[in-house]
Amino acid sequence: MSVSDVSAASGRTVCAPLPVLGRDVLVPLVTGGEVTYAALDYAASAPALQRVWDDVAAYAPYYGSVHRGAGYLSQLSTDLFEQSRAVVADFLGCRPDDQVIFTRSTTDSLNLLASVIPDATRVYVFETEHHASLLPWRDGDVTCLPAPRTPRQAVETLEAALADREPHGPALVCVTGASNVTGELWPVRELTAAAHAHGARIVLDAAQLAPHHPVDIAALDVDYVAFSGHKLYAPFGSGVLAGRADWLRVAQPYLAGGGASRKVARRDDGGVDVEWHSSAARHEAGSPNVIGVYAIASACRALTEAGFDALVARERELVGRVVAGLARIRQVRVLSLFGDDSPRVGVISFVVDGWNSSHFAAALSAEYGIGVRDGLFCAHPLVRTLLGSEPDEPGECGAPEAEPGERSLNAIRVSFGAGT
Ligand code: PLP
Repeated sequence: MSVSDVSAASGRTVCAPLPVLGRDVLVPLVTGGEVTYAALDYAASAPALQRVWDDVAAYAPYYGSVHRGAGYLSQLSTDLFEQSRAVVADFLGCRPDDQVIFTRSTTDSLNLLASVIPDATRVYVFETEHHASLLPWRDGDVTCLPAPRTPRQAVETLEAALADREPHGPALVCVTGASNVTGELWPVRELTAAAHAHGARIVLDAAQLAPHHPVDIAALDVDYVAFSGHKLYAPFGSGVLAGRADWLRVAQPYLAGGGASRKVARRDDGGVDVEWHSSAARHEAGSPNVIGVYAIASACRALTEAGFDALVARERELVGRVVAGLARIRQVRVLSLFGDDSPRVGVISFVVDGWNSSHFAAALSAEYGIGVRDGLFCAHPLVRTLLGSEPDEPGECGAPEAEPGERSLNAIRVSFGAGT
């Protein structure tokens, strides 16, 4: 497909923003010159670090089943699996009693947490969250808070909602560290203080924060953290839920099966008695993704060794360049909840006046070899608020196409990170 195909499809002539954005803003961002292909979609899945591939390649010939084998490969894999848990605990600055549970992804981690919260726990979540944070909680027990327009307003909104809580049963606040749409940083410390002041716990959705900033559970004082390996420069298939052990230790296992149980016996009445583990294994039934877990730990180690200071500084510079480049294009509007100057990670969404975002993204790929994302980014309420539009019948993470000349019903997202 070329720009002319896109233009024919949309019934429009190609206007200035595409070449300006492609040639002057995004291409220099990637290489300072020519590109053959650049995937600027790190917020969806970041390319794995070479170091991670090397570690995985070195281990791959030796993997075996963990925990239950006497053979050398099983022993080695069990050691590496449990060492990986310790590496992740270190990476997250876990408290001594915290559990680190390996999952498939952030979505899986948050669903796991939703399954272990005590009965009648009221969950507070902003409508601006990714669907993975917004949807796992039982409908009746969720308070969905309106989108705040400043970090201060976010804290005040939460405080007011928690103060209104009657009766004072268990409560959990779920908040993202960095938005997957705007990249903006959320006031995690302040929200945590507000939650704790009202006797609530807080879980940090660090899917977008952890690849860009250090996340320290103890320093932030959050109760739980969830993140995904495939956004943290490891391949797909592994994720983490870490945090306070008490609820996790006693709740019904997330998955029932081997590995989660310590003792199983047939009862005389024909039923089955089970004694579950109280360690992380309780929620890790079945054969785990040992390679994925090894990869996530390798990524944590690589980021710790490289240090976040250089990564944060480089990304701040790139964000500044992209935002300044976009600001030069009259037809472009960068999306932001907290204001254009609010600090953000390398995730920037925008719309181009007069352009259908899907066509624009397709043309960036076809003409400049730049892969971006378009759609609603699995955050329908947030994108709706940012666009001031009401898309009807959107696909899961997409949006209906705007007619030529109509205001775009979805947005374009460019995102980058370590190694850009
Ligand atoms: N939370 C945020 C902020 C995200 O950006 C994403 C994915 O884009 C998720 C949760 C879900 O992550 P996963 O698809 O790895 O489960």
